Amino acid sequence: MSWHLINWHRNQILQQEGASDAIWQKLINLRCLKGLTVEEFSRLRELAAAFLQDKKIYGAHDLQISDEMRISIALQACILILNLDLDYYRNWVEIIVYPGEFILDYDYADEYGVVHHVRRVASGEAWFAGPVILSWHDADTVNRPGYNVVIHEFAHKIDMLHEGPNGCPELHANMSAYTWHEVFSQAYEKFCRQVAKRQETILDPYAAESPAEFFAVVSEMFFELPLIVHQHFPSVYEQLALFYRQDPAQRWR
Ligand SMILES: [Zn+2]
Repeated sequence: MSWHLINWHRNQILQQEGASDAIWQKLINLRCLKGLTVEEFSRLRELAAAFLQDKKIYGAHDLQISDEMRISIALQACILILNLDLDYYRNWVEIIVYPGEFILDYDYADEYGVVHHVRRVASGEAWFAGPVILSWHDADTVNRPGYNVVIHEFAHKIDMLHEGPNGCPELHANMSAYTWHEVFSQAYEKFCRQVAKRQETILDPYAAESPAEFFAVVSEMFFELPLIVHQHFPSVYEQLALFYRQDPAQRWR
């Protein structure tokens, strides 16, 4: 390789690294990363880089996946496991990103062996031991405080790993399954009553679908607007802080 060519290559690499560094720095401003210390952000960045090594991100319907989209998805997926482990996202590889909402169309058999057909519009979906599917339109959260489809789907991934999606991930040794169950069932039942009475709710009414959806929606809010969860669901906040080993409300103060 000639001297000129070596120099050209070196410049290309430096330019690429510089461009990617600018993207990482820009994405510090994601709402769910607010208040992270320099040390936490650098740990998150390492985790997100390892995540990107491990996962394949594909665009559907000709959607081009830019570096900024890849890094944004990785950072939001990894904020959940900042103080846990990449192992929570084991046994699957693909993330499929649609430009907007997409149609889910599949059959499944229930516990009695009856086959049901599902066809509905979705902004995100997480399959057990399979892909995470996201709508980029919905993943771009700038104007929708408290809403985060990436955090939502990755919370499902964490939940599913232990006894399927039931709103109870595998708890740490310093946690009590009894307390988790009490706290979450009470909050969920109260929330469902509010939704049934069509009262205004702090969380997206979709959280009333099932305990698994309640866990995913409240996890979104825990990272996006933690002070609200802390204020309105203090016991749930406490359990989530123990599970995720993070205190995002503290970061916002
Ligand atoms: Zn969900």
